[in-house]
Amino acid sequence: MMRILVWFRNDLRLHDNPALSAACAQADEVIAYYCFDSQYYGDNKSAFPRIGARRAQFILESLQDLKESLASLNIPLQISIGKPWEGINTLHQNFPVDAIFYSEEYAYEEIMQADELESLDIPLQSFEANQLFNISELPFPLYKLPRGFTTFRKKIETVISPAAVLSSSQSPLSTSPVASTPLPSLIALGLRPDAIDERAALKPKGGEKEGLKRLHYYLFSSKNLSQYKETRNGMIGSDYSSKFSFWLANGSLSPRKIYHEIKDYEAQFGANESTYWLYFELLWREFFRLNAAKKGANFFQMPLDYHSSVDAQFEKWRQGKTGHPFIDANMRELALTGFMSNRGRQNVASYLINNLKGDWRLGAAWFESALIDYDVSSNYGNWTYLAGNGNDPREQRSFNINSQQERYDPNGDYVNLWLKF
Ligand SMILES: Cc1cc2nc3c(=O)[nH]c(=O)nc-3n(C[C@H](O)[C@H](O)[C@H](O)COP(=O)(O)OP(=O)(O)OC[C@H]3O[C@@H](n4cnc5c(N)ncnc54)[C@H](O)[C@@H]3O)c2cc1C
Repeated sequence: MMRILVWFRNDLRLHDNPALSAACAQADEVIAYYCFDSQYYGDNKSAFPRIGARRAQFILESLQDLKESLASLNIPLQISIGKPWEGINTLHQNFPVDAIFYSEEYAYEEIMQADELESLDIPLQSFEANQLFNISELPFPLYKLPRGFTTFRKKIETVISPAAVLSSSQSPLSTSPVASTPLPSLIALGLRPDAIDERAALKPKGGEKEGLKRLHYYLFSSKNLSQYKETRNGMIGSDYSSKFSFWLANGSLSPRKIYHEIKDYEAQFGANESTYWLYFELLWREFFRLNAAKKGANFFQMPLDYHSSVDAQFEKWRQGKTGHPFIDANMRELALTGFMSNRGRQNVASYLINNLKGDWRLGAAWFESALIDYDVSSNYGNWTYLAGNGNDPREQRSFNINSQQERYDPNGDYVNLWLKF
């Protein structure tokens, strides 16, 4: 009788999940495990929690959905709060497991998290799951990853394309003697519920089913994809951009699934610049992930325990009280909803870095806390890129906020939406 434990992190889905598929194929019994790691939920000496209440709520919803889907395969979902290696160790004492399967993460802390499992003396097997390409598929070794995005894109897009999506249909396994654990409350995670403001671009619900629903909606029901390139710099409403980031962030949606749905859409309704552009943006995500993998702790350009002190100027920026309406509107949207458009993110980051001469690392930390779609590589990658510390050989990127406002909010609708209470 073989029992495999699948450790879930940012792969909260059944579709296109190689660790889960391999476990189901090889084991008689599978136990799923998720840990609310105390390094993200505990007190971290910062002015705000690393994971804010809205993101935690979204993760809880995603886990509830995962638990229900796994139950149909007779796979219980065990959940603990603390350190993953400790939670797995406790489980292993009572229900010995023959192997641990998990999806790889590329960022430094996540690699350390997985390294800690080595102390358990249980065979470990990792799988690449959350990007378009496995590192071994790239036409260059990781250390030769180009510095600039355009070179990276040109080197890969005519040479390789994302592999097929793994199916989610598995047969039910032997019933496990292990029971699923109830989900913790936000309070148990040290957080207080924080509702999403009614004006939000989208009030997302977590989980694979919701992610797949949004994917189907944005492509096949609304056909918004065919106008994506023209609308993607919008700022109001749910449809100007895909909003896939919510579900990509914790892996309820696989990027390869999105790619292949785009291809199906193009086959049915025709390809154009917009249908290509969504793939182009997914390549940006890929690029930042690979940079995190290549650079390790250096990707963050700071000691990992870094916490700059929060001063009055930073607090004004964070709370949307700088006096610049375009910046303040965006920062309030973030604080009240857990989301901000890409256009907004570029501008508020540039404003903190260039106009206020503030510490970009604090800005990135606030985004980490407040964004529901926080993704370590995309967040720190974009911040370092804008601060001129990242991949682009060009100088620090500075936006003229007034002309950005004139261009992207010409009638003041966006500013009015968030500044008029
Ligand atoms: C300072 C800053 C911080 C950011 N932090 C995050 C973050 O924590 N998590 C996150 O997912 N994105 C982050 N982004 C990238 C981008 O703003 C969001 O991915 C996008 O706004 C999410 O909305 P969407 O899914 O509707 O995007 P769409 O325009 O529909 O794009 C589709 C997908 O492409 C990817 N993508 C698009 N733009 C970028 C980009 N610039 N960098 C990387 N991937 C991109 C995302 O996965 C996105 O879901 C950040 C950008 C900036 C400038």
